[in-house]
Amino acid sequence: MKNLNQLTAHKLLEMLKKEEITSLEIVQSLFERIEKAEDKIRAYLFWDKEKILAKAKKSKQGLLSGIPIAIKDNICVEGEPTGCASQILQGFISPYDATVVKNLKAKGAILCGRTNMDEFAFGSSTENSAYQVTHNPWDGQRVPGGSSGGSAAAVAADEAIFALGSDTGGSIRQPAGLCGVVGFKPTYGRVSRYGLIAFGSSLDQIGTLTKDVADAALLLKAIAGFDNQDSTSVDISVPDYEKYLEREIKGLKIGLPDEYFIEGLERNVKQRVEEAIKVFEGLGAEMVRISLPHTEFAVAVYYILATAEASSNLLRFDGVEYGVRKTVNSLQPTVYSLQKTENRKNLLSEMYEKTREEGFGKEAKRRIILGTYVLSRGYYDQYYLKAAKVRNLVVKDFKEAFEKCDLILTPTSPTPAWKIGEKTEDPLRMYLSDIFTIPANLAGIPAVSIPCGFCKGLPVGLQLFGKAFAEEKILQAAYAYEQSTEWHLQKPKI
Ligand code: GLN
Repeated sequence: MKNLNQLTAHKLLEMLKKEEITSLEIVQSLFERIEKAEDKIRAYLFWDKEKILAKAKKSKQGLLSGIPIAIKDNICVEGEPTGCASQILQGFISPYDATVVKNLKAKGAILCGRTNMDEFAFGSSTENSAYQVTHNPWDGQRVPGGSSGGSAAAVAADEAIFALGSDTGGSIRQPAGLCGVVGFKPTYGRVSRYGLIAFGSSLDQIGTLTKDVADAALLLKAIAGFDNQDSTSVDISVPDYEKYLEREIKGLKIGLPDEYFIEGLERNVKQRVEEAIKVFEGLGAEMVRISLPHTEFAVAVYYILATAEASSNLLRFDGVEYGVRKTVNSLQPTVYSLQKTENRKNLLSEMYEKTREEGFGKEAKRRIILGTYVLSRGYYDQYYLKAAKVRNLVVKDFKEAFEKCDLILTPTSPTPAWKIGEKTEDPLRMYLSDIFTIPANLAGIPAVSIPCGFCKGLPVGLQLFGKAFAEEKILQAAYAYEQSTEWHLQKPKI
């Protein structure tokens, strides 16, 4: 059986059950693909072929028995490098499994490699990786989006069956949209973040990148649930998401926010989304106009809160607690002990400085500086506190909107994938590409991006927001749409 790598997990599970294929065959076809395509795509930072083949030979029974999965480089896997695509964590081997990884292993999944990302998940294009740029499978000269660009590109190029990513301001949905796959960000608190290297702790959420909606439901079921290791984890039961997929969406109320169909939204993208709206109407959904009036502040609020939290989370990478220490020559133990206290202090700060100067890339430094600034005395009230207040207004917007509708439909990104290098010199332009995804993180609500067509050969993504902990509603509507279209079946030619 050839090309098993192109199939979805639910299809492979069916075939495994009937004993038509083995897990080893899946993994082998995946490696064949990786060896052929990886030169062009560069989605992975690390994999251990021998270990993975050995695992596939004796896979455990369970929900995901024998199915390989790719993991973003900021989620800890015991005994394997976990580096956030950063120099500062080069060579770091995680001593433990993230809860999601533990869950996946317990359910029989086979971890098949670490995917590339923007350093510490800071970015929208995966160009901020310290190691390599990932290329969009639909056009190798373009970015895959970010920060989970490695995971999205791997799934789109059939170099992975499915993958995990993390989403702080859109990092799952935006690359999913730009690569033509399904990206799901669950509600804040639905999936444990224990073992996810923190970026913005009030925003981060682990989620899924898959070839279709049924796989999103399957994988979400495998990773969701309460975890007492994560104090933000919420103890409410996890529905059997797959059971909701076949339900009709007749009478479902879908909100269309005025603020998302604005100038700056590329004409072709708008057209694709409008065509998708027609499909939803054809399925019996009812469209209602709504307003999310504070949308225009979301990007500014996000870049204050996210950088503030990042600057604090990144403090631990100092060469002492975590991170590759860059030594100053006279920090050799014997020389050091002979120094006077004052000199020692200087040497110590020099060591911190050198470690952080050499260990962090340009964007990470920019965020640390911005974040420290907005938290500093004198500016805290003006920036951080104000942003925190405006965040509440964004939350309120959604609350009010959801009184009028069950779901909200928007484009995922204002444009399709852009050229590599096009926005690297203009961080503000890069930041604005997240304008439609950020509000869901500020409000903590679940959201998905699904493929809804192409513009000039590049995928376009459609986004659905749901109420907190109502992931099943999103999956149900996304599945109904997917069943009546064929966008998710298109494959890039590489
Ligand atoms: N692109 C956004 C940023 O750079 C979001 C990143 C993310 O979700 N990790 O902050």
